[in-house]
Amino acid sequence: MQHDKPLGYFSRKLTDTQRRYPVTEQELLAIMETLKYFHHMLFGHKIIIKTDHKNLTHQVSSHASDRVLRQHLLLEEYGVELEYIKGENNIVADALSHIPTEELFIFDEADEFPLNMALIANKQLTDPHLQKALLEQSNLYFAAEREGQQIYVNRQTDSVYVPASLRPAILEWYHTTLLHPGTKRMQATVKENFYWPGLDASVEALVRTCEIFQKCKITAVKKIWKDSLASALTLTTMGGSSRGSHWPLGR
Ligand SMILES: [Zn+2]
Repeated sequence: MQHDKPLGYFSRKLTDTQRRYPVTEQELLAIMETLKYFHHMLFGHKIIIKTDHKNLTHQVSSHASDRVLRQHLLLEEYGVELEYIKGENNIVADALSHIPTEELFIFDEADEFPLNMALIANKQLTDPHLQKALLEQSNLYFAAEREGQQIYVNRQTDSVYVPASLRPAILEWYHTTLLHPGTKRMQATVKENFYWPGLDASVEALVRTCEIFQKCKITAVKKIWKDSLASALTLTTMGGSSRGSHWPLGR
């Protein structure tokens, strides 16, 4: 989280073995995987992890398994501070954990565009801003056909309205694929295809957080991004993918 806005989400399914771990160990596993996944952003920074598992914030017991001891050692390497937060105060994490896994976005570098028109159309149906606007300001959006779907499009910009729940995925994808661009360039590129109220501000917030990362200057990681851009561009020129990977970049 940065300025109370999430920077990213990470999720994956547990393996069969992991499914049999005690809940506290599953929580620990989730923390470890998240730290590793966002290593480039997190390592070397002060990290506070809020968890509603009180056991995690206690000293490791001497009866702990090797696995648990190893994980706690790794936590120490990251200099992580574990803070207990009551379940009822942990609304965000709780809400996220109740979204079916398929709806959370798993960000792989060099990933295809994470959304498609069917998903956008589906989420538009229940998006509060869009539904309110359709009732009260009928001239703001119009229904257009995109990739066989009825999609609401901003009348002024002729770009697809992105429901609130899908914006983080779009932002993250552009940010990675454009190799951590500056505010203006990213705003312009996203706006070639998409619209939502406050788009400029959300891009600005994301780019601001990225400057933190750029201080680290991890050149090896940058090379991986370069390679991933190359493959992303290959995908965009191929077109015809069922996930619509040919339209978002536009250049
Ligand atoms: Zn970045």
